[in-house]
Amino acid sequence: MPRVLVVGAMGRMGERVRVAISEAPKLELGAALEAPGHPAVGKPIAKGIEISDDPKAALSQCEVAIDFTTPEATLQVMRAAADAGVAYVCGTTGFSDAQRAEIGDLAARIPIVHAPNFSVSVNILSWLIREAARKLGSGYDAELVEIHHSDKRDAPSGTALHLAEAVAAGRGQKLADHLVLERAGDIGVRPEDAIGIQTLRAGDIAGEHTVLFVGQGERLELTHRASTRDHFARGAVRTADWLTGRDPGLYPIERVFGLETD
Ligand code: NAP
Repeated sequence: MPRVLVVGAMGRMGERVRVAISEAPKLELGAALEAPGHPAVGKPIAKGIEISDDPKAALSQCEVAIDFTTPEATLQVMRAAADAGVAYVCGTTGFSDAQRAEIGDLAARIPIVHAPNFSVSVNILSWLIREAARKLGSGYDAELVEIHHSDKRDAPSGTALHLAEAVAAGRGQKLADHLVLERAGDIGVRPEDAIGIQTLRAGDIAGEHTVLFVGQGERLELTHRASTRDHFARGAVRTADWLTGRDPGLYPIERVFGLETD
């Protein structure tokens, strides 16, 4: 059975990933990694497995890694995974363009899936949004609202940006030319093709995304609400199973879930 390294094993997502691995029939926990100095380092986490702070040693026990941490931590461990030939499932969000480019370079050496959202239903939402934007055509303004817990560090969420990309793709446009992240003061008339994202942060909300297509006298709303993190974890474990043993490359999450279109 392929063995999985959980990177950020004591984090909110890391904990749910460990549970999802324990329920998966075709994978097992191989090692668990935390940041150097974390109080759990050296403590037992499963039979014969202690929390490590040594990426190289932890990777040597595993065929695939699942990582939900921070961009800096992810890149540090992913570089070591490329040296060790370990496949990589990356759920961390908030990367800069340069950091995303480095992930692309590392994918020349190992198989990688990097997705802002590992929920199957969110990826189906993305597919629906692309189709809705394509079929509605002009005359419908697109706006997104995302809400997450108050500890979330990056804004807007990686998922919101991914869904905004789906609107732009459905319209045959480049998101960067139409994205609006801030509105304050005298903002003038809304540009026709704008794709706006509003970010809310509050309490313990696991994640909520709504896309609105607003026409004259009608509006279409597509919403996903997460009440736990387990579906992200299960999707990441399913992806790890799919990715193990594949050739190097950066695989889209849509391929894992059978959602690729043209
Ligand atoms: P979290 O609770 O802060 O967990 C992150 C964990 O990573 C912490 O335990 C942290 O340790 C640890 N860490 C930091 N540096 C490390 C290093 N160098 N090596 C190993 N572990 C390290 O955060 P979270 O809520 O789980 O979210 C993590 C990321 O996943 C965020 O980017 C979030 O947006 C993303 N996310 C993605 C999805 C998806 O489906 N793709 C779903 C949910 C969340 P310390 O506490 O010591 O810093």
